[in-house]
Formats: sequence, structure tokens, C-alpha cells
Amino acid sequence: MHDVAIVGGGPVGMLLAVLLAQEGRDVAAFEERDTISPRARAIGIHPPSVEALAEAGVEVPAHGRPIADGVAMADGRVLGAMPLAGVYALAQQHVERMLRARLATLAPGSLRLGRRVLGLHPVSGGHRLDVEGGAAASARLVVAADGLRSTIRELVGVPVVRRRGVAHYLMADVDGDALGDRALLAFEREGVVESFPLPGGRRRWVARVAPPMPEADFEALAAVVRARTGRVLDSPSPVSAFTAKQGLAARTVHFGSSDAAVVLIGDAAHEISPIGGQGLNLGWLEARALARVLTGGPGTRDALAAFEAERMRATRRAIAQAAFNTAMGRALSRSGHAARSLAIRSLGAPPLARHLADAFTMRTL
Ligand SMILES: Cc1cc2nc3c(=O)[nH]c(=O)nc-3n(C[C@H](O)[C@H](O)[C@H](O)COP(=O)(O)OP(=O)(O)OC[C@H]3O[C@@H](n4cnc5c(N)ncnc54)[C@H](O)[C@@H]3O)c2cc1C
Repeated sequence: MHDVAIVGGGPVGMLLAVLLAQEGRDVAAFEERDTISPRARAIGIHPPSVEALAEAGVEVPAHGRPIADGVAMADGRVLGAMPLAGVYALAQQHVERMLRARLATLAPGSLRLGRRVLGLHPVSGGHRLDVEGGAAASARLVVAADGLRSTIRELVGVPVVRRRGVAHYLMADVDGDALGDRALLAFEREGVVESFPLPGGRRRWVARVAPPMPEADFEALAAVVRARTGRVLDSPSPVSAFTAKQGLAARTVHFGSSDAAVVLIGDAAHEISPIGGQGLNLGWLEARALARVLTGGPGTRDALAAFEAERMRATRRAIAQAAFNTAMGRALSRSGHAARSLAIRSLGAPPLARHLADAFTMRTL
């Protein structure tokens, strides 16, 4: 019987696997895909995650691009700037590759690719997992790091509570870097446009749209950015259209009829709007907190309950922050837009700017 079975070999499951393997725990991780998903997703790594990844031997500053500050603008005028020191831009796939390489060195063969977990059954002292292809494995503790549509969450019957913060966006990672190391948040009447530096002289551009534009192409995104900010994107790149939603699992530590726990982390535990870049960072902080609970054993009920309470508090704060960001980024009437610009001006001035920067860099989570 393994000490810990991790379902899902995404960035969150992999950080937990590495941290546990470093402590000499016997870990098995199951990932249904054969390769890392190429879909453009997280890029923003906040200071607490930089620390958590360093504990796992992954040095973000050596690979990522520092984001110096974030500038809020409207109608071509600067409303305020907040320091983002310690935040790095690095594609989540890059981090996933580094974590997998580290795990392969520490515990060769512990990540089983192309292995979808289909079932979960309590057995004496743990759980047995049914794995695609007729294989089975058992472990004292099972961790669901299997993403938004978590199979394990479904199997143990934990519902998701939906939260405010639905909005539609177009996004592309584009060559060209006129804005340097600054993030731009343009709060325009028709909706927000955001832009972040990426490694390799590129930038991510994200524009809020309403109604949703699922068929939109690069021209459509470039036209929205140009109309709202006057900035020209002239290097065609693949565009994704996505709808941001929010929700959290009703509980993240589940005992059921067994004495052995099933723990939900990462997107299996919460769906957080990508606007504000918090979902993956929260997941990494959960992986680190859980690894600490599991040092030296399967974790007592009290320690797991404390883990759950602390991380759910952080998740609720992150969801509230993302809901606020979503509300601030919507299209507004002329007077509403003027009032928003005024509000952002005061948020961007001392002493509020410092609190805002702490919230945006997740130092309070
Ligand atoms: C456009 C976009 C931009 C984003 N930007 C940011 C950002 O800047 N900062 C940030 O913090 N977050 C951001 N996020 C959120 C971030 O991408 C997710 O929070 C992150 O991927 C969650 O990692 P995870 O490991 O929990 O889940 P996932 O990345 O979804 O990994 C889950 C893994 O489990 C596997 N799996 C699923 N079911 C099974 C099964 N039954 N058996 C075996 N394997 C299974 C899947 O194949 C997958 O590899 C963004 C998201 C989007 C969509």
C-alpha cells in the first residue's frame, strides 16, 4: 500500500508529489494524459508560490520574467500604479515540466502517465483505486488533484457551491513588447483590457467581451484592443475565448465511511476566475500546506481539519478578490465609468496601494 496516491499529474499534483518524495514518502501519481496539455493557461507566479516551488527545487527566477509593476489606466491616463515585486511570468507548462523532471529523479516511475483513475473504494487502512486498463493501486491517503471536472470529487459526492464572478474574455499570447516589464490594466468604458509581459519578448493580451465571442479570431481581439486602448497588435497568434466562473467544493477533506482521508486540492477544490491569476497559485499553496501535514504520517484528523479550515479561508478570500476584479472590469455607462476611474485613482494612492499590492501578489493568502 502506497503512503499517498495522487490523482492528476497537473501542476498542483506534481508539486505535492515532489514535496512528499523529498521527505521519503512512497507516492504514486496517476495522470490520464500522455503529454502535458499545450492549452495556454496560468502565467503569473506570486511570491508565496515562488517560495513553495523553490522548496521543491524549482527556481522560478531563473526561468521566469519578473513583472515590475501594474499600471491602471483609463481613457489614455494613468490612474495609479502598484508594485508587483516578486511576481514572475512563466507558463504553467514550463513549471509542470520542471516538476516532472524533479519527480523522475527523486522517485523514478512514481508518475504513471496515460492512467485514468475510474473508481475509489474504501479498504482496511486506506483506499483502492481502479485505474484504466484493469490496473489497481491502494494508498493510505488519496489526494484529488484532478482538476475542475474532478472524478474523485464526484466519486466521494462532494458538491461544488457556485459563486459570483462570471464574465467572458478573449486572450492571446502575442510577439512584441512595447510595454516592457509592466502589467497594464486598462479600465475602459467598454470593458477591461489587460496585458502582461511574458518570457521571450512576448505579452499576454486579455479583453473582456460581452456577449461571449466563442468563434472570435485574432483580428477580433486586435480590433477590441485597438478600439479601447489605441494599441496595435500586429503579430497574429492563436486566440482563446473563455468564460470565467467561480465555485468551491463544499469540503476538501472527506472521510466517508472510511478512517482514511480523501483530500481535494487545486482546481478539484475550487474554480477561481483567471482574472487576477490566483487559481494555480492557491493550488500550489494547498500542496505545500498538505505536504507539511503529511510529513511523517498520513495526517491526523485534527491536522487535516486545520489544513481544510485554513486553506478554505484563503480560497474564500481569493474568490471574493476575483469577484471584485470581475465587477471592476465590466462595461459601464459614461457616469459609471467616471466613478470607477475615480475609485481606482484612490485605490492606487497610498496607503491603499500597498494593501492592494499585497492582495494582488497573494502575500495575504
Ligand atoms: C486562460 C487561463 C489563464 C489562467 N491564468 C492563471 C494565472 O495566471 N495564475 C493562476 O494562478 N491560475 C491561472 N489559471 C488557473 C490555472 O490554470 C489552474 O488553476 C491550474 O491548471 C490548476 O492546476 P491543477 O493541477 O489543480 O489542475 P489541472 O491543471 O486541470 O490538472 C489536473 C490533471 O488531472 C488529470 N486528470 C483529470 N481527471 C483524471 C483522472 N480521473 N485520472 C487521472 N488523471 C486525471 C488531467 O489530465 C490534468 O492533467 C488560468 C486558467 C485559465 C483557463
